[in-house]
Amino acid sequence: MKRRDFFKSALAAGVGLVGASALRPVYASDMMEFKGPEVPDVDPVKVAEHCYSIPAMGPHPTPDNFGMFSNPGFVVTEKGVVVVDTGSSLQIGEMILRQIKKITDQPVVKVINTHFHGDHWLGNHAFVNAYPNVEIYSHQKCIDNLKSGQDKFWFDFMQQNTNNKITGTVITLPNKTFAGGETFEVGGVKFKIHHFGKVHTDSDISVEVSTDKVMYMGDMVMRRIANMEDGSFRGSIDALSQVAEMDIDTFIPMHGTPDDVKLINEGREFMETIYTNVEELYDEGLSDFEMKPKIMEKPFMKDVASQWPGYEDTLGKFIVVAIKEVEQAMFA
Ligand SMILES: [Zn+2]
Repeated sequence: MKRRDFFKSALAAGVGLVGASALRPVYASDMMEFKGPEVPDVDPVKVAEHCYSIPAMGPHPTPDNFGMFSNPGFVVTEKGVVVVDTGSSLQIGEMILRQIKKITDQPVVKVINTHFHGDHWLGNHAFVNAYPNVEIYSHQKCIDNLKSGQDKFWFDFMQQNTNNKITGTVITLPNKTFAGGETFEVGGVKFKIHHFGKVHTDSDISVEVSTDKVMYMGDMVMRRIANMEDGSFRGSIDALSQVAEMDIDTFIPMHGTPDDVKLINEGREFMETIYTNVEELYDEGLSDFEMKPKIMEKPFMKDVASQWPGYEDTLGKFIVVAIKEVEQAMFA
């Protein structure tokens, strides 16, 4: 990020918060040091022998939670640490590094970004600061999306939603790629990377820690209703059906809490309930707002999904995306 852009975002914050007059004493030379506040420590949760997850401070990015609304993960081995997702900012990345230090003196040797949404990679900056040669991996499509404007979009999104608390974060893209299917070992701990095509985005990878029978799921499943804009219902149903058959004891979503295969089955049932009902109601000629109450009456929605954060506000958007996918499938 260019210094000019920092200055512009700082200006935007100043105008919003305290009025333009407060900006006069600020000079460009001061802006080089300008950085949003530190994120308070959040204790990591040990999920399995080598696997940790740092719980989100809330379901959505706000000024109060500094944009810490996803669960970064890390895997501790005797020969280094593998980090899965780096949070929404430099400051969150630095907080993750402090939590890792509480558990091990080993360096971070690999960082993996599960997809291109900003709460999963904007913290990369902190890891490059701490370990200049660190390998940062994602699917190639993650890099492609970021290079075609999603980088700036997500930086601005986090700035707006946190009152510019991520100021100082420099956009830091992955420098290595995984296609899915790779296996590797760090300090005797075995890993496998999975890619199922278009699921939550076209760039999702999940990180299996085979030694612990754990899988970091990215956003392919979550007990929360958020962003389906870049995803596919049919892709999600297909991917989660495959995941449910795998030899995994614990699934770690990047939003919500870890669980066994029940998490995967619930995620699939949610996608299926929406998609199959939208298909049916579409054939009957209903519009999205007519579909919504009918879908909300379905037992799974009433009993399970309605408890998830974001349900009331976001279900309608999911229905709109499902309608688009039904229409695309007709002409495919
Ligand atoms: Zn996401």
